[in-house]
Amino acid sequence: MSENGQTRTIELPGTITVRDLAKTMDASPIEIIKTLMANGVMANINQQIDFDTAAIVAAEMGYEVTLETPEADEEEDQGEIPLWRRVIEEEDPAELETRPPVVTILGHVDHGKTTLLDAIRHTNVAGGEAGGITQHIGAYQAEHNGRTITFLDTPGHAAFTAMRARGAQGADLVILVVAADDGVMPQTKEAAAHARAAKVPIIVAMNKIDRSGADPDRVKQQLAEIGLVPDEWDGDTIVVPISAKQKQGLDDLLEAIVLVAEGLNIRANPRGRCIGTVIEAERDRARGVVATLLVQNGTLNVGDVVLVGNTYGRLRAMFDFRGRKIRKAGPSTPVSVMGLNDVPQAGDLFQVVSSEREAREKIEARIQAQQNAPAAAKSVTSLEQLFDRFQAGEVRELRLIIRADVQGSLEPIINSLNEMSEGDIKINILHAETGNIGESDIMLASASDAIVIGFNVQADSAARRLAEAEGVSIRLYDIIYRLTEDIEKALKGMLEPEEKETVIGHAEVRQIFHIKKVGNVAGCRVVDGEVRRNARIRVLRGGQSVFEGSVASLKHEQDDVREVRAGFECGLSIKGFDAFQIGDILESYTVEKVAVA
Ligand code: GDP
Repeated sequence: MSENGQTRTIELPGTITVRDLAKTMDASPIEIIKTLMANGVMANINQQIDFDTAAIVAAEMGYEVTLETPEADEEEDQGEIPLWRRVIEEEDPAELETRPPVVTILGHVDHGKTTLLDAIRHTNVAGGEAGGITQHIGAYQAEHNGRTITFLDTPGHAAFTAMRARGAQGADLVILVVAADDGVMPQTKEAAAHARAAKVPIIVAMNKIDRSGADPDRVKQQLAEIGLVPDEWDGDTIVVPISAKQKQGLDDLLEAIVLVAEGLNIRANPRGRCIGTVIEAERDRARGVVATLLVQNGTLNVGDVVLVGNTYGRLRAMFDFRGRKIRKAGPSTPVSVMGLNDVPQAGDLFQVVSSEREAREKIEARIQAQQNAPAAAKSVTSLEQLFDRFQAGEVRELRLIIRADVQGSLEPIINSLNEMSEGDIKINILHAETGNIGESDIMLASASDAIVIGFNVQADSAARRLAEAEGVSIRLYDIIYRLTEDIEKALKGMLEPEEKETVIGHAEVRQIFHIKKVGNVAGCRVVDGEVRRNARIRVLRGGQSVFEGSVASLKHEQDDVREVRAGFECGLSIKGFDAFQIGDILESYTVEKVAVA
C-alpha cells in the first residue's frame, strides 16, 4: 500500500456491508453512504452492496479494488445476515438448487412441542421407517408428499436463541405451538418475538384441540393481539389446528410448511463451499467427540477437514439421523459426525477447509486477531450506539424489551410508549412481560439490538453477567414517567443532531490587524470564561451568528497559547473567516457527543 495520493489497493469480497467497506477503507460509514447516494444508491450501514458497487465507491475514494475469495472465519462481523446466507448469496445463482426447509418448533412449556416433534418423527419420518429412529441427534428429516423437511429437534428456544445470538439463524421457518386450552402465554410471546426479530416466518400449530377446554377462537383472538393475525381473519399467519397426541392435523401442518417454504425460495449450492451450523455436540466415552452438524451450503464428505471455532478435525465417520453410516451430506441435511478434536459449541458455524494445517493456521490467526482487538468483536447495544446507527440510517426504530412487576403497570407503560411511536422513528416493543429480567431477555436483546427496560423489577445475576458480556443495556425504573421521559429523550436524541454544545467563554473584538498572507487578525479582550485554541468559535454580531468555525491561531502577546482567560487580551484568527468588525463577540464553545445511554 502506498500513500501520498497514489492509488491504494484493497481486496473486497463479492458482497460487503457498508460498515465493513468503511472498515476496510478506514473511512467513516457516513462517507461511504454519501458517496453511494451521490451515485444514486440509497443504502444503510448494514446493507450489503455488491462488489461492482463497492468498487465504484472505493475507486472514487482513491482505492484500487480486487475481488477476494470469501473467508468464512469472520463470524463476529456478520451484522444482520448470517454468514451462511452470505456464502449462499455469493454462489453463482445458476448453481443454486432448492433445498429442504429447516424448521424449528417453539412455544410455551407444556404446550406440546416434544409431543409434536415425536408425532411427526413417528408418522412422517423420511425413508419411511416409522418408529424406526431410536437415536436422537438434535435434528431429523420428515417427508410430506415427496418433499423433505428438516426439523430441528431441540425444543425450547434456548438453542434457537443461541443460534440467533451468534447470527446463525439456522431455521427458515418457525412452528409456534400454542395449546388451544391454554392460549398465548409468556413464552409464546417470547418465541414470536424471536422469530420476528430473526425475520423468520411463523406458522402457528394450535395444539390440543382434542381437549374439552380447547377454545380456538379465544386463542386466535390472543394471537391477533400479539400481531399474529390468522389468515382466516385476513391476516397472514397460517393457524393449523392439531392434536399432537392424537396425531390429528399433522398432514395439514406439513402441507402448510411446504407451502410457506415454496414461497421463500429456499436454496443452496450443493457443489459450493461447504458451511453449516453445529446443532449439538458432546463427548462420548466410546466414540470421542460426536457433533450434529446441519449442512447449509455445499456437500460434506467423510474425510473432509472441518473447522469450527477453535476446534477442527478430519471427519472419520458420518451418520444420518437414523444412525445409518453415510459418506456425503448436502444442504439442509443434519448429520452426526466423529473426528473433531474438541466439543464445539452449539450454534457455531462450521466450514470445510482444505487441510488440518489450514485449520490450525486459521485458528492461530483468529486467536491473534482476538488478542489484538479484544473488545472490537462485541456488538454493544446501548442507547448511544443505537443512536449512532440511527445517524447512519441503519436503525429507524428503537427496540425495547420490557419487564414489569405486574400486568397493571405493564399496560400503561406499553400504551404510553406506543403513543411515542408516532413520527419518524418507531418504538418497537419486541417483548413485554411480567417478572424479573432473565437471561432470555438479554439474549433476545442482543440478537435484535434491543434495550431491556425493567419497571419495579430486578435483573437476576445471570442476566446481568450476560448483559455485560453481550454489551446489552439494562435500564431499571420505579417511576413510569421517568421511564417514558428517558425513552422520549432517547428518541429526541435520535431525531436531533447528536452534539451538545457548551459555551466556554466570550471575547470582544477591539482592534483589527491586517497581516500579509494571513489576513485579518482580531485583537480581543476575553470578557468571560476563556477562549481556547482547540475549541470551536462563533462570530456574533448584533446577537446573530455570522460565522462558525475553528480557530487558526491564538496568541497572547507574541506567544502561541492554548487558552486565554477572562480579563486578558489576545490575538485571534479564524480558519476561513477574517471579516471581523470592531464590537464583534467571539464565542468559544465545545461540541461533544450527548451521552444518551
Ligand atoms: P412441551 O413442554 O411443549 O414439549 O410439551 P410436551 O410435548 O411435553 O407436552 C406436555 C403435555 O401435554 C404432555 O403431557 C403431553 O402428553 C400433552 N399433550 C401434548 N399434545 C397434546 C394434545 O394434542 N392433546 C392432549 N390432550 N395432550 C397433549
